[in-house]
Amino acid sequence: MTKYQHIFFDLDNTLWDFDKSSLMAFDKIYDIFNLINYGIPSASHFHHTYFEHNNRLWELYRQGKIDKDFLKTERFRLPLKDYGVIDEKLAIDLGESYTDYAARLVALVPHTLEVLNYLKEKNYKIHLITNGFLEVQSIKMQASGLDKLIDKSFVSEVVGFKKPDYRIFHYAMENVGATIENSVMIGDDLSVDIIPAKEIGMTHIYFNRKKISHNEKLDYEIYDLIEICDII
Ligand SMILES: [Mg+2]
Repeated sequence: MTKYQHIFFDLDNTLWDFDKSSLMAFDKIYDIFNLINYGIPSASHFHHTYFEHNNRLWELYRQGKIDKDFLKTERFRLPLKDYGVIDEKLAIDLGESYTDYAARLVALVPHTLEVLNYLKEKNYKIHLITNGFLEVQSIKMQASGLDKLIDKSFVSEVVGFKKPDYRIFHYAMENVGATIENSVMIGDDLSVDIIPAKEIGMTHIYFNRKKISHNEKLDYEIYDLIEICDII
């Protein structure tokens, strides 16, 4: 009998294949907005250009330096500018359209459903702690059927704290009646999901899908979600 009762998952790139759904959404918007006519060679080229800007802007968003609406448009305004396209309306429209498609085009990380069903059968409570936007994360969960397997979701936008802030972890545990001792945190981002969990004493499983090298001493590290079934 394991001492764990509550399993907290990150959503993006842990259960939800964010990179894949993002690429699929870029294919869509590239066609819909005829981006070829703006001198953008391909959807994947555009995605690549966007990627760097998006990562940098997300870091600013996490630090509270920019807000959601700014992030949504700016992450398209800047890559468009890289192609010499200055078009505020197009940036806004792409931002809206992309967010919508990226959430609806279902792309789960391999073995997500097997693992969640396994945990359910073993009577674990399954929760999410995610930094995404509420409306987007809700659509993803409904579209993919994850909502039926997750007991409680904690979205940073609602809670008021973003990972790696310890407070969102404490808030989530308190809210579901979990303790540090009977909780496990699973996520794909070492600095956002795993280090804070480690620092507050939560058992942690680093889902290092891309096999990124690091020097952290961790409780568990896995490369495929299915390995969770051997640990808990
Ligand atoms: Mg993630």
